[in-house]
Amino acid sequence: MTENEAPTKPAGPPQDLKDMNVLVSLCKQRGFVFPSSEVYGGINACWDYGPLGIELKRNVKERWWRAMCDRDDIEGLDAAILMHPRVWEASGHVAGFVDPLVDCKECKSRFRADKIDPEKLKANVCPNCGKKGALTEPRNFNLMFKTHMGALEDSSAIVYLRPETAQGIYVNFLNVQQSSRQKIPFGIAQIGKAFRNEITPGNFIFRTREFEQMEMQYFVKPGTDMEWFEKWKAMRIQWHYDNGLRKEKLRFHQHAGGELAHYAKAAFDIEYEFPIGWSELEGVHNRTDFDLGRHQEFSGKNLQYFDEAAKEKYVPYIVETSVGCDRALLAVLCDSYRFDGDRTWFQMHPALSPYKVAVFPLMKKGGMSEYAEKLHTDLKKHFRCTTDDAGSIGKRYRRQDEIGTPFCVTVDFDTIEKHTVTLRHRDTMETIGGRVPVEKLVDVIRDQIENWGR
Ligand code: ATP
Repeated sequence: MTENEAPTKPAGPPQDLKDMNVLVSLCKQRGFVFPSSEVYGGINACWDYGPLGIELKRNVKERWWRAMCDRDDIEGLDAAILMHPRVWEASGHVAGFVDPLVDCKECKSRFRADKIDPEKLKANVCPNCGKKGALTEPRNFNLMFKTHMGALEDSSAIVYLRPETAQGIYVNFLNVQQSSRQKIPFGIAQIGKAFRNEITPGNFIFRTREFEQMEMQYFVKPGTDMEWFEKWKAMRIQWHYDNGLRKEKLRFHQHAGGELAHYAKAAFDIEYEFPIGWSELEGVHNRTDFDLGRHQEFSGKNLQYFDEAAKEKYVPYIVETSVGCDRALLAVLCDSYRFDGDRTWFQMHPALSPYKVAVFPLMKKGGMSEYAEKLHTDLKKHFRCTTDDAGSIGKRYRRQDEIGTPFCVTVDFDTIEKHTVTLRHRDTMETIGGRVPVEKLVDVIRDQIENWGR
């Protein structure tokens, strides 16, 4: 094989991601995710999104936002992170947003009691070092970050960093409904940061103390809540399928008995099989009239909805869908990672890929560089596009494979003469449609993206 010939055959069968550390180092190397404050040695479980990570994240958010706000019955909102402290009393977070904390006196490991195998907890055996009798009694630990507003640091100035975006939606329920003239049933969607002082953060961006949530609260007439709950369950798992996640890696987990939150009538998690095992990706909850009822009680304001047609007033029930943006992104990375013994690539849906196309001049001479540069400028008007002229074509393909770019265009001698290019597919490594006339390139790529997976 000469310098500029690229391999077109896989080295072996594609393997999935088995070890999260492999992803962590690839993400750092390629500019998806960096450890936060790395030059100071990092800060536990905080991560920064790099140039490619932020593009991927924007694509995840955009797809969620469009799935929600392109509907006529959903409005968007961006509420402040800092809210009146009474909000968190009404919501139950001040009294009840606690995790039971257990320490091992022997190895100093820290656990959430609800995540330890109940047998081990009962027998008082440390899940880490195996020492018997070393675990402390569970102590409740509030997960909300506290800070002070204004110059005084007394108790009257305490505010919290919101631990969920949902409360900003509830307290704005009537503002949104009245200003947008929505009728029930309708929803409010919001994307924003949330903060939880987690006891056991970790597993890369799976559980962090600062993260982004994409939440939609759907307000319905009592009595229609279970019907809407079922509809939203189906629509939400479909969204993950549409992002390209493999069906066999997704499942529902029903909250039963003690798992069911005090406010919930029904709750299902959508779980994904991460390399760390099946874990929650999204929650779909029937929250009843608990939230609006509590805010009505604590604020003294009437939060009832008036149904003009039926001339009746009621406090709506709420069906919530809540997904972590970082966790959805992690699922995309884990699900699309492939390694064939030689080549690594992210087989992600092109709509999520940071770049859709990369343009390469085969060589820097013969006018190929200039041609490729012009083609790159033209394609940029249609797709996020990059270019690369360093190293062999094979190496350049590999670099794009590792960041999930679905299509590579090569400008060669024939391009200069005949204005045709090769279009290489990331997953098959084969060229699409023989030589593609440059004037048809945008249409061919668009068609490939629109018909992806069909
Ligand atoms: P867990 O029991 O794992 O702590 P939870 O049930 O408290 O999670 P929810 O309050 O339902 O989680 O939050 C909704 C979604 O927000 C979760 O499904 C998850 O995707 C995301 N999320 C929650 N906590 C974190 C976190 N610490 N880091 C990243 N994402 C999170």
